[in-house]
Amino acid sequence: MRKKIVAGNWKMNLEWNEAQALFHSLLDIQADGVEIVIFPPVLYIGEFVKNSSEAQITIGAQNCFSKQDGAFTGEISAAMVKSIGATHVLIGHSERRTIFNETNELLKEKLRAVISNGLIPVFCCGEELAIRETSKQNEFILNQLEASIGEFSVEELKDLVLAYEPIWAIGTGLTATSEEAEEMHANIRSWLTKKFGEEFANQTPILYGGSCNDKNASELFACPNVDGGLIGGAALKEDTFKKIISAR
Ligand code: PEP
Repeated sequence: MRKKIVAGNWKMNLEWNEAQALFHSLLDIQADGVEIVIFPPVLYIGEFVKNSSEAQITIGAQNCFSKQDGAFTGEISAAMVKSIGATHVLIGHSERRTIFNETNELLKEKLRAVISNGLIPVFCCGEELAIRETSKQNEFILNQLEASIGEFSVEELKDLVLAYEPIWAIGTGLTATSEEAEEMHANIRSWLTKKFGEEFANQTPILYGGSCNDKNASELFACPNVDGGLIGGAALKEDTFKKIISAR
């Protein structure tokens, strides 16, 4: 049975007092059969890790650099993320790809760094609206995955989590329909099967992200190939995030 995961990507939101308040309100979550991961701004990770040891929540980083250490002002390494006690790293979020020009090649190196430091990669892929409008989304997503993940071995990818996040749905209120999400997740899983074998494909969680909220989560999560969600805006409010977790 595949893991169900609900993850909250706080992006560059919430100052320290607000972040602490939200984090503390999530510590009482008890949800059987679902993993909960919070990706707060990196400054808050150490304190949150310390305070979540009794809770069901684990903490991840929204980004890290591909190098182990050195003269890379402003960056953090996967080794640092690991050493502070976080468990997951987001790689390839569309905001990193588009705003910070992260290429498939760089994302491959980031994935390598995350894996070799024993962290769990949550690797994001997603197409722009123009690609969906020409019905090229299936091919586009598989190209993204092939370029960054294709060369790794099953052993290296054993903890991989994928997140399908259509760019036109992120932060726009335009969610993919459950049919669109299921079609893409099935497309990704069939690529995983061809590339890495059935056992690997069946065990790899594929999350949906893109305006997922407390109203649409249960329909999306009911799709056979949707294994939970990567939630942005709706993860910034205690009640909506908790409702999404209950919808898994
Ligand atoms: C995200 O940024 O990963 C995301 C899915 O955002 P939102 O839920 O706000 O669309």
